[in-house]
Amino acid sequence: MNCDSTSVAKSEDEPPNPAIEPGGIVSVEKISDISKLDEIELKNIFEKYPVRITNYYFSLIKEKDDGVYKQCIPSVEEISDRFGEEDPLNEEPEHQVRQGVPSLLTHRYPDRVLFRISNSCAMYCRFCTRKRKVGDANKNPTWKEIVKALMYIQEHVEIRDVILSGGDPLMLPDRTLDKILAAVYSIISKRENGIIRIGTRIPVVLPQRITKELCDILKKYHPIYINTHFNHPNEITAESKRACGMLADSGIPVGNQTVLLRGVNDNPETMKKLMQKLVSIRVRPYYIYQCDPVKGANHFRTKVEKGLEIYKSLRGHTSGLCVPHFVIDAPGGGGKIPLLPEYVTEINNDKVVMKNYEGKEFEYVQAD
Ligand code: SF4
Repeated sequence: MNCDSTSVAKSEDEPPNPAIEPGGIVSVEKISDISKLDEIELKNIFEKYPVRITNYYFSLIKEKDDGVYKQCIPSVEEISDRFGEEDPLNEEPEHQVRQGVPSLLTHRYPDRVLFRISNSCAMYCRFCTRKRKVGDANKNPTWKEIVKALMYIQEHVEIRDVILSGGDPLMLPDRTLDKILAAVYSIISKRENGIIRIGTRIPVVLPQRITKELCDILKKYHPIYINTHFNHPNEITAESKRACGMLADSGIPVGNQTVLLRGVNDNPETMKKLMQKLVSIRVRPYYIYQCDPVKGANHFRTKVEKGLEIYKSLRGHTSGLCVPHFVIDAPGGGGKIPLLPEYVTEINNDKVVMKNYEGKEFEYVQAD
């Protein structure tokens, strides 16, 4: 291979990457106490889906069934769900559009790939789209698989944007992360407009993981972007503010992807507060996702109209900086499709008739 991943390749026979231990994990007894699930229900959930909550995140619960509680405490609806799909976004290798894509990659759009370098998370979110596979130690990537993915990126010169994902990439130890980033960077930095992105929920669930040492590693590989995942205003604390501030101070633009979740953030007031708080901690709202029809998480889904109502309540009612795109990740691997309320009421060769956020009509004259 013609990239610095030769140093990675030498380690090919090493055992799978150990993820960091988040430390301070809520005990099963505590989860059982708060959830009121009986022993059999809990056992069935634990057998099917991973459960892990950091003490930090648990401490953000203000009352039973609030927006933080629902994201982390398992519910019986996960195992009674008969409607969802295991892999609604067709991410598994057998669902890939292109042939020969290594198992750690999803190559859906020509110029970018999703690279799943970790299968662990600090917390296992109850609504997770990848709940079929995260947390399973047998599915942790090996060096061999990582090298295979790097070789694919090296060979596919059209790829200029690599999104490190998981699980959570920041669950890897600093040294491992540094090694993988160096290998990706050695390929991508030679490509026109090459960038690296990291998708992580660490600033939300374990902000203490954002250290000076980690930031010093990340900033070696600019341009590097981070997308994090706040879903509720109560997740924005002094600690998460400090973590996001450190990333921003390292020159890393931090964006946020929110999932629209029933009982968590499916009302305009909560969402507006969340978006405004995000901007105040230097995090740019990027997407609001319609919740995927994932098996075990269907109880979190809302009607699409709810998302449009929320979008309408933001646009014009708060600054544009606080208004993300509302998208559906199309089932079957169709990619993200933006949805907008109907603002254009008429369009012809002469004019466009539009409604503003107050419902007032305006006309715009077309060019000749
Ligand atoms: S951190 Fe992300 S990948 Fe991990 S469980 Fe939560 S939503 Fe899923």
